[in-house]
Amino acid sequence: MKCPFCQCAELKVLDSRESTETNAVRRRRECQACTKRFTTFETIELTMQIHKRDGRYEEFQQKKLIDGMIAACRHTTISHEHVLALASQITTELMQRQVKEISTTELGEIVMQNFLKLDTIAYIRFACVYRRFKNIEELLAAIQSIQAKDDSRNLDG
Ligand SMILES: [Zn+2]
Repeated sequence: MKCPFCQCAELKVLDSRESTETNAVRRRRECQACTKRFTTFETIELTMQIHKRDGRYEEFQQKKLIDGMIAACRHTTISHEHVLALASQITTELMQRQVKEISTTELGEIVMQNFLKLDTIAYIRFACVYRRFKNIEELLAAIQSIQAKDDSRNLDG
């Protein structure tokens, strides 16, 4: 880092403060050459690259994830608030695991696994988009695999 006034790299930190609302650290710095003071903010860089099906990369945007999830959850038992909470939970998990790159398919699988625990219809809708079933047989096979899981649960309980 260099002084914005004289470009000198000799800087002294006068004080550091945590800003809770922005999850940032604020530092007062003084240039050792020109003695001018300025403030810097240190924040967490939340970046993750999405590897798309066409081979291109795109920076992860939680909004896009939420939009896709909301579309899948229309007319299901999953509320808008629940989708937001779920999206936030999925994002936090990926960030904590320090995932730098994830494919659209992998991300879709994570969302589907979460939906599967909540609502079968939302799962199927999301699966239709992400797995791109080629025909009705593939879709039926996916539905049957859920039913099989449901049946085994019923036998257990
Ligand atoms: Zn300076």
